[in-house]
Amino acid sequence: MKALTSVLEAVGNTPIVHLQKVLPATGNAALFAKLEYMNPGGSIKDRMVKYLLENMDAAGVLNNRSVLVENSSGNTGAALSMAAAARGLRCIVTIPDKMSGEKIARMRAFGTEVVVAPTAVEADDPRSYYSRARDIAEQTPDSIYPDQYNNPLNAQAHYCTTGPELWEQTEGHIDVLVCGMGTGGTITGVGRYLKEKNPAIQVIGADPIGSVFHDYFHFGKMSPASVYKVEGIGEDYLVKAIDFDVIDDIVQVTDAESFETARRLVREEGIFCGGSSGSAMSAALRVAHRYPGKNIVVILPDSGNMYLSKFMDDQWMVANGFSLHEAERASVRKDAQAVTA
Ligand code: PMP
Repeated sequence: MKALTSVLEAVGNTPIVHLQKVLPATGNAALFAKLEYMNPGGSIKDRMVKYLLENMDAAGVLNNRSVLVENSSGNTGAALSMAAAARGLRCIVTIPDKMSGEKIARMRAFGTEVVVAPTAVEADDPRSYYSRARDIAEQTPDSIYPDQYNNPLNAQAHYCTTGPELWEQTEGHIDVLVCGMGTGGTITGVGRYLKEKNPAIQVIGADPIGSVFHDYFHFGKMSPASVYKVEGIGEDYLVKAIDFDVIDDIVQVTDAESFETARRLVREEGIFCGGSSGSAMSAALRVAHRYPGKNIVVILPDSGNMYLSKFMDDQWMVANGFSLHEAERASVRKDAQAVTA
């Protein structure tokens, strides 16, 4: 029987899909989507958690009393929750209050204790989800705090798994990598690996308006941060895990284009991805004309499952001031008629 001994062994080896309908307005670059939502915990963060646990096991720091504590926008938390459930460990995750209810419910379903913290406070405020996780880790006996924002194993996980996998799957025919940046682990690890293979490969980050990465990269200054709706990418401070040297460009994206592009990927390609996938894909669509005849690979970090009550929902889109395409507007009208009928 070809059975795995743990669900964690199912992490990685995600497919790449050549897009057929969501295409750049000009030029003939080919767009490819790497479906990281196919990981068993539902996101790219499964890779980092699996890699961290392997390293901790090798170093002998984990035992059956260990308590995993982390701050997360929900996907690292889910990956840790899955791993903790599979290993019979206790897990505590702090999460900012702007993240979807689905993400909180998913962690709780695994048995994780979830602490919800305010979004609109500075990172060093004692109420922030970073500070809360640090405090809980300090106060909990046998705690293990991976601290993904400051842990070099985060980027290394992608250098050792996602990068080589992409290189193999594309047989080296990858010219441009586009991805979002949260901790920066993905862009740093994958970008570094690909550039070592071929220094001509361009690495492009997608940054939501309101995050500080774009202005720091282009102008060397910290612009004031503001709250935006897309989840999992962008920050209000300079995170340590990002190596800006592997990045060639950072493109700013709006919430509207992120959500519209994610919804197009779902409806036109059948690719059920999350909002930050839409951010990365809209950045790719925007720069594609620069790369005629080239292959652009876009990382789609998580699944639309986590946003059914948010941008996947037509009523939520309208209530939050986002416009819908004509076909979608018709479906909202139909829904509204059904409700009033
Ligand atoms: N998209 C989503 C939905 C995420 O949760 C994250 C992780 N915060 C990212 C993108 C960014 O990945 P990374 O932390 O590796 O930069």
